[in-house]
Amino acid sequence: PRSIVTLGEIVVEIMADEPGNGFREPIGLRGPFASGAPAIFIDQVAKLGHPAGLISCVGDDDFGRLNIERLRADGVDVSAIRVHPEHVTGSAFVRYRADGERDFVFNIKNSACGQTRITAEGDALLDRCGHFHVMGSSMFSFRLIDEAKTALGKVKRNGGTVSFDPNVRKEMLGIPEMRAALEMMLQYCDVFLPSGPELMLLTEAKNEADAIREILGLGVSAIVVKRGSGGASYHDRDGDLHVPALPVREIDPTGAGDCFGATFVTCRLQGMPPAECLRYAAASGALAVTRRGPMEGTAGFADLDALIASS
Ligand code: ADP
Repeated sequence: PRSIVTLGEIVVEIMADEPGNGFREPIGLRGPFASGAPAIFIDQVAKLGHPAGLISCVGDDDFGRLNIERLRADGVDVSAIRVHPEHVTGSAFVRYRADGERDFVFNIKNSACGQTRITAEGDALLDRCGHFHVMGSSMFSFRLIDEAKTALGKVKRNGGTVSFDPNVRKEMLGIPEMRAALEMMLQYCDVFLPSGPELMLLTEAKNEADAIREILGLGVSAIVVKRGSGGASYHDRDGDLHVPALPVREIDPTGAGDCFGATFVTCRLQGMPPAECLRYAAASGALAVTRRGPMEGTAGFADLDALIASS
């Protein structure tokens, strides 16, 4: 089969051992863990045994090496990941508060992943690509938006399909040009993978049903709405499907949406019917929340089948 490719940030995540408020005193930390939404997504695709590649950039440092070695070991084509001599690999420090909210310290925008470019290796990867995935979180500069547009244009011209997870930070939507770029991604995508609140962000619709109708009207083939412990729903021109969340103990929600999306898209590309894609995707999201660390819950079909069978 032709590969699934995405473009965007590789970072490490370092998490506080104990809940509390932020990082204004010395505390115990755990990590570094391989991370970055596109990296988690593509690792999950590879775990399902589907050809997978990532276009990205890391620094010439251990945080970059940790990620590249992990992705390579899991079967991701890492040939289009640049190693930048001057910029360092990005990082995200995360600490839970007692109420379940999270405090972050990010070093991403000015890190190596901002230097992501489609190199000759990236071009070769896109030639073999049957599906391109766009993460809203990766579109944090106009240069990166341009790279993503170039990549998806090439894949579409080759007869491939495109998915889009808005995965967006609110600040980005406050910038009119940034908002326009994200709205434009909606026009290009075949599969749209928002969370419940994100479904309402990129249209003027007053309720979910209107938003779904409006987005399907743009030419999007399928909308899959991720609803956390509320499960997920699927919408296309023929109707709606819903899948409940699997009953698992949530330990760390980071990465659930990325694993869910990757599994949905991979199953769809392999020709499974929507209900089956949705069932595997929900299992993938559920498995992800049971593991500490953003990329530690990626899993193959055997593990997903076992989780489905046991619940
Ligand atoms: P995002 O990370 O994009 O906000 P969600 O948190 O909605 O995505 O998670 C994606 C999917 O993973 C959900 O639609 C659901 O199927 C599954 N999932 C998420 N949280 C849980 C949970 N606590 N228990 C079981 N499944 C979950």
